[in-house]
Amino acid sequence: MADTIFQKILSGDIPCHQVYRDDQVLAFLDISPLSEGHTLVIPVEPAETVDQLSDESAAAIGRVLPRIARAVMEATGCKHYNILQNNGAPAHQAVFHVHFHIIPKYDDGRGLGVGWEPIGTLDRDAGAALAARIAGAIAND
Ligand code: AMP
Repeated sequence: MADTIFQKILSGDIPCHQVYRDDQVLAFLDISPLSEGHTLVIPVEPAETVDQLSDESAAAIGRVLPRIARAVMEATGCKHYNILQNNGAPAHQAVFHVHFHIIPKYDDGRGLGVGWEPIGTLDRDAGAALAARIAGAIAND
């Protein structure tokens, strides 16, 4: 995997505004925040996308995400926030090291804008077939 900017932050070659660190997780302020308190939570493990992340790193992030979200809320006073996680360039991933954005949403609208356009209503038979395929893949993983 190529050395990403987050790899350089992890190794201390590039500074960041750190808010949390343990053996498996680092959290720091986003350099181009969508709103005040925009924070990135990343694994130490150099996985590009969530599907490549080990169970251990995933669990480590899951364990601290709520705590970091609470801290962002307390520090900024925000009451609402989005957690965003992009995988792949077409899905808006710019840095190819897994990261979770915690983005406060303020009453004035600052924060993440979400374009949400359903492709339709889930067909019952197609939904059942698709769910079975995904469930089978999970069982085989
Ligand atoms: P994404 O589009 O999900 O890959 O988001 C990458 C995020 O990383 C963007 O929000 C950037 O502003 C942020 N970012 C890039 N370089 C840095 C840096 N050196 N320090 C903090 N955040 C960064």
